[in-house]
Amino acid sequence: MATPKVVIVTGANRGIGRAICQRILTTEPNVSPVKLFAATRSGQDLGFQSTHATRSVLYPKLDISDHSSVSDFAEEVKQYGSVDVLINNAGVNLDNEYSAANARKTMDVNYTSMLDMCQTFIPLLSKRGRIVNLSSIASQLRFYSPEIQARFRDPHATKDTLDDIANDFVKSVEEGNEEASGFGTPKRSYSVSKALVTALTAMLARQHPGVTINCCCPGWVATDMGQLVGSRPPKSPEQGATIPLRLAFGDIGDVTGKYWANDSIRGKGE
Ligand code: NDP
Repeated sequence: MATPKVVIVTGANRGIGRAICQRILTTEPNVSPVKLFAATRSGQDLGFQSTHATRSVLYPKLDISDHSSVSDFAEEVKQYGSVDVLINNAGVNLDNEYSAANARKTMDVNYTSMLDMCQTFIPLLSKRGRIVNLSSIASQLRFYSPEIQARFRDPHATKDTLDDIANDFVKSVEEGNEEASGFGTPKRSYSVSKALVTALTAMLARQHPGVTINCCCPGWVATDMGQLVGSRPPKSPEQGATIPLRLAFGDIGDVTGKYWANDSIRGKGE
């Protein structure tokens, strides 16, 4: 039997992450054989049913915002060989309880921790390995001043310059001057963090030319998070899984570093 693909999905217990895992274990073509790491903060057994003998699942514990949890998990995964696919799905939207503390937490989980996951797992990727980062349509840059937009779009961005954007945003929330600082009207922690996801994806693609790394908006999806912005999201979690799964397993040529939405490539920060 061929060696199973090693596939990691973060935030596997609910929403889009759960649907991605269930599709990998049942209906998704082109994934067998697979060893799926359905990672959650608790490490709980999620009881997923695989319909293929060659598709198996493990339930590791992973809190992406705790670096020691990330490095322990990387050590665990190493025992199974190189990583074929990492889907960085876990995220938070705390803007309904907007505060400086929650702005910091949002930057920490959605941006800093996702970047940590990417940087930890890039050295463990197989030759044709892929990373898929869940961004959002909220990442579009039109809300911000031209200067802030230019910082997000910087083709020479580094971790330091992106960290500076995150820190400047949190500082603006602490001081209550988001608009004067170029970050638009208040309550945009989630948007800023997702713009950083799109920017970190472009940066890592540039820094690691051998790695296929893309990000996407899954659409507006009926999950706990999707329901925060309205009561009628048009997509089911299974439908929300489609674009991430395509970027993970589908034929996307040699495209890397891009933001995808509605199944097509968009420019940076559109
Ligand atoms: P949910 O709120 O339903 O689920 C979020 C998941 O992330 C949960 O499994 C949660 O775990 C996990 N998570 C949060 N923090 C951490 C952490 N520190 N470590 C590990 N796991 C964590 O969100 P969705 O399924 O809707 O969203 C999934 C992704 O898709 C997110 O990145 C989101 O921003 C993005 N997205 C969603 C859209 C939508 O319409 N739903 C639209 C655009 C983008 P726990 O249960 O333990 O809290």
